[in-house]
Amino acid sequence: MDEATWQRLEAAVAGRRGDLVALTQDLIRFPTLNPPGRQYREICDYLAARLAAGGFGVELIRATGAPADSEAHPRWNLVARHEGAGGPGECVHFNGHHDVVEVGHGWSVDPFGGEVRDGRVYGRGACDMKGGLAAAIIAAEAFVETCPDYRGAVEISATADEESGGYGGVAWLAERGWFDPTRVQHVIIPEPLNKDRICLGHRGVWWAEIETKGRIAHGSMPFLGDCAVRHMGAVLAEMEATLFPLLAGKHTEMPVVPDGARNSTLNINAIHGGAPEQAPDYTGLPAPCVPDRCRITIDRRFLIEEDIGEVKAEVRAMMERVRAGRPGFDYEIRELFEVLPTMAEPDAPVVQAVARAIETVLGRPPDFVVSPGTYDQKHIDRIGRLKNCIAYGPGILDLAHQPDEWVGIDDMVDAARVMARTLGDLLTG
Ligand SMILES: [Zn+2]
Repeated sequence: MDEATWQRLEAAVAGRRGDLVALTQDLIRFPTLNPPGRQYREICDYLAARLAAGGFGVELIRATGAPADSEAHPRWNLVARHEGAGGPGECVHFNGHHDVVEVGHGWSVDPFGGEVRDGRVYGRGACDMKGGLAAAIIAAEAFVETCPDYRGAVEISATADEESGGYGGVAWLAERGWFDPTRVQHVIIPEPLNKDRICLGHRGVWWAEIETKGRIAHGSMPFLGDCAVRHMGAVLAEMEATLFPLLAGKHTEMPVVPDGARNSTLNINAIHGGAPEQAPDYTGLPAPCVPDRCRITIDRRFLIEEDIGEVKAEVRAMMERVRAGRPGFDYEIRELFEVLPTMAEPDAPVVQAVARAIETVLGRPPDFVVSPGTYDQKHIDRIGRLKNCIAYGPGILDLAHQPDEWVGIDDMVDAARVMARTLGDLLTG
């Protein structure tokens, strides 16, 4: 891209600053909560109307029959495409999820108000990732207007359910060829990894439920039963004594941020044993029983150097150590979910193009990072078979899913400049 064109592109992005803020606010004002998956159609309709007005062809796609898809909460996705007047060429695709996680407690602003204060836009989804989606749209609109004679195509998708695994969103589209390397060559996912960092991929994940078994009896005579919660207590003690130290000793060469995630980690997402919790309006007492079942859900995040078979074997070995020390101990492990680690090559074309753009726009080379948790790149890689994919977008990852989530306006503008420059680099030669 020549200097004069670049200056016009810079001006086109700068001139859209107010539009970028308003677009981010509008997106936040759709409470696209997942679960259960609210207002997916409404946000897709809104984006379709906007992008169609900007000359994009738009397609609304419902993931009919995907997990959680229902008439009450249909899983709607939007794909928009603009083709350059310069003829066929490569396609650059920006993918943003439109769903957000629950609000939680501790907010000082309306989570769906889109309030602007001190150079920030506040709201659930501001950084994860409606601000990034808005920045990508502004970059694409500025680019197609400034460089209409480009070769190839620019695509933008707004997809469902990333927060719950992406099966009604990117996975569904990938299975139907939308991310086939013959139609899309470069993918940028504007997740909030900061405007000067390129995220190459993510760690792996394995979720499983562990159940200890006991025998029910009257709570006044526990010796007649067998307490599954005490058995789980022994599991947790073994986990503290042997498994956590083992995981803390495993380090990765992947540039994972934050630093703490450069080790293997394990979280216990939930624990439950004994009588079910009663509804808050239940005024009676619980009944005395020895718990015959206790369950935990474990969330194991693993490194590219680890084999998923080993990851599972470590947990099984730990359970067997408990069994060896406890007469009558019985358990079951139910596997829930797994994703292998993924990482783009540092010399992949989209990595290099975004790196050059960051240097031009911000005047410093980017940091290359890896995300502690997974995101939709897994589906583009494994189902779409497209390796040339990264996450790049404005916002601070630590704010995601927190109260008073926000995205900085200057950061969004800078990220939009980087994305516009990347389009110029990849599509105008
Ligand atoms: Zn996200």
